Amino acid sequence: MGEPGISGKLIAVEGLDGSGKSTQIYLLHQWLLGLGCKVFFSEWNSSVIVKDATRKGKRKHLLTPTTFSLIHATDFADRYERQILPMLKAGYLVLCDRYIYTSFARDGVRGCNPGWLRKLYGFAKNPDVTLYFKLPLTTALGRILEGRIKLQYFEAGMDLGLSIDIRESFQIFQRMVMDQYERMSEEFGFTIVDASRSIPIQQETIRGLISNRIDLSQYKQRVKR
Ligand code: ADP
Repeated sequence: MGEPGISGKLIAVEGLDGSGKSTQIYLLHQWLLGLGCKVFFSEWNSSVIVKDATRKGKRKHLLTPTTFSLIHATDFADRYERQILPMLKAGYLVLCDRYIYTSFARDGVRGCNPGWLRKLYGFAKNPDVTLYFKLPLTTALGRILEGRIKLQYFEAGMDLGLSIDIRESFQIFQRMVMDQYERMSEEFGFTIVDASRSIPIQQETIRGLISNRIDLSQYKQRVKR
């Protein structure tokens, strides 16, 4: 059932760093564009309005778990009200690389109350499809730790004081985030993607799944004759 005033559809991807979300949503985006669909893409933590405050707060380690959460919520609210919702109302397929569940997972680990977090983001629509990229922790860790030179302080959960070694802290933090995702999977009806499979196989599965769940012919641009 659609919601009043919203003819678009919202597709979100969620999962650990290294689970392959960005790779898959990029490929899905390109495929939908190729089909001639109206598509809009939005990425977590990317609002231009909040960027400077976020950077400053993180650099100077000024943020408590609550202010950290609120700053991400402000970022999200800005993107939601100025981009995501208007695009949904305009009949677009909106693709979100991370959605409110990222905050529920990460801020939950940082000690924010789960009920408070759910109320904080109460203005946001539930996605029509949430793809949860599930894979063994060691596989996700391997992809990040082998592939990248430097881990970021907050991404590794260093603010939680889990370990003075950033790689160890990252591993502990990711395990805690994964536990949160596992718990949310049923609560929010995530569609599970086996993220340990190859990139083309996952993409094929995702395209099939999206075509089954959404009538894509409704979202094709009309060509003026
Ligand atoms: P995320 O957005 O979930 O952090 P990315 O899509 O950025 O993940 O992928 C993280 C790393 O893992 C990248 O180097 C990417 O090329 C690699 N990768 C993505 N999907 C797979 C896969 N199915 N198998 C192996 N490596 C992958």
